[in-house]
Amino acid sequence: MKKVDNRTKVTNWGKYPVVETHFHLTSDIRKITEIIKESPSIIARGNGRSYGDNSLNKDHILSTVKLDKFISFDRENGIFECEAGVILSDILDTIVPEGFFLPVTPGTKLITVGGAIGANVHGKNNHSEGCFGDYILDFNLITEKGEIKKCSPEENSELFWNTIGGMGLTGIIISVRFTLKKIQTAYIKQVVIKADNLAEIFKCFDESEGWTYSVAWIDCLQKGSKMGRSVFMIGEHADLTELPAKWKAMPLLHRKKTKLNIPFNFPSFVLNTFTVKAFNFLYYFKQRRKVTNTVVDYDSFFYPLDAVNNWNRIYGKNGFIQYQFIIPKEAGKEGMTEILKTIARSGQGSFLAVLKLYKKGNPKAHNSFPIDGYSLALDFKIDKKLPALVKELDEIVEYYNGRIYLAKDAMSRKSLINYVKVPETGKFDSVQHERIESQM
Ligand SMILES: Cc1cc2nc3c(=O)[nH]c(=O)nc-3n(C[C@H](O)[C@H](O)[C@H](O)COP(=O)(O)OP(=O)(O)OC[C@H]3O[C@@H](n4cnc5c(N)ncnc54)[C@H](O)[C@@H]3O)c2cc1C
Repeated sequence: MKKVDNRTKVTNWGKYPVVETHFHLTSDIRKITEIIKESPSIIARGNGRSYGDNSLNKDHILSTVKLDKFISFDRENGIFECEAGVILSDILDTIVPEGFFLPVTPGTKLITVGGAIGANVHGKNNHSEGCFGDYILDFNLITEKGEIKKCSPEENSELFWNTIGGMGLTGIIISVRFTLKKIQTAYIKQVVIKADNLAEIFKCFDESEGWTYSVAWIDCLQKGSKMGRSVFMIGEHADLTELPAKWKAMPLLHRKKTKLNIPFNFPSFVLNTFTVKAFNFLYYFKQRRKVTNTVVDYDSFFYPLDAVNNWNRIYGKNGFIQYQFIIPKEAGKEGMTEILKTIARSGQGSFLAVLKLYKKGNPKAHNSFPIDGYSLALDFKIDKKLPALVKELDEIVEYYNGRIYLAKDAMSRKSLINYVKVPETGKFDSVQHERIESQM
């Protein structure tokens, strides 16, 4: 972040777009209330791990990362309470040794609890266990008038449901209480299957619906009979009897690994069709056998990308977008074929293309992204050709009655995003919200 004329340049994980804004960083609730009252518009920002423009505002941003205190941990009932800026990795460091895990976690543990509610994040268990918001007992929120309101499904329930997945547009969450999941070990029993094409990968998802966790990585540059070539992973929390002997003595021990670091922005020519193809080839053939059974630590299963600090620099200084869409299950194979064809034709391949199965959750959580369907998330480097590709992909997603995930979005059209409906507060506003409104 760079300071310019008392304003700071801020961007999220995709480094696009960039705003110059007044950046407020405090844990003083009285001060936060004052800032809200005085600022013409403001948005909460967690750890800035959204890819796009949802926690950016051109006038004022309130960073919550100093709201970083644990409040209570009820080991009897598996209930955790903390301030909203606490990072999930800090919670894991505390709860895993005590035999608990997060009920839902995204593909990075470097996000705040407030951000997890703002986007109502989901993980590899969306089809079986829903979104993060399903496990919230209550939270405290500062409203546009500077009042602190306790919200739960019973108390201020409308505000509660508008806030879950509401992208920060209802106020600033300051503390949260949520339930945890019990585990016996810090390990995951994992099965990895190589799928040769799209038909095979959909069959894998169908046959594995009983597994708690599932995800596939797709090589989105393959064409013809190899289109949809994937590595499919399913997993369960391993119980004690499933651990190899070497880990049995300390089953809840989390072994921290050394992290790699990308020290600077890569020049933009580094990432091209050739390097993406080479990466995808190596990733697929790294798996020697068609099916591999292993037990891995939870970091390797849930957070492989967190092993590389600043990996977003690979996309160069202009950044990238993540295009994550979902289409209904019945449109899955046809819609995905069309999308993959369009991407392969464009030559703008993605290093990471992640396919997941989703299930529509609690209808009260009306701002949530998941429907019964398949979602694909793709990273694209910012360049001159990208808006045209996004337009083309948006058209296909719209045709199949799909939607775009707002936590990733920075470019898509309004019709794919307007499932998030929060009554006007006149106070909390983001660049994303403004952009969507201006498309009216
Ligand atoms: C490598 C990687 C993998 C990811 N994988 C997944 C995944 O599998 N599933 C998934 O769902 N997401 C995933 N994400 C996206 C990420 O989990 C979400 O964007 C998350 O919301 C980021 O949280 P944050 O703390 O960084 O908040 P930010 O990105 O700063 O903010 C997110 C939203 O929440 C709001 N918000 C933040 N704090 C508060 C608060 N205290 N009060 C009110 N509103 C608030 C913001 O206004 C904003 O709209 C991934 C991101 C990365 C970088």
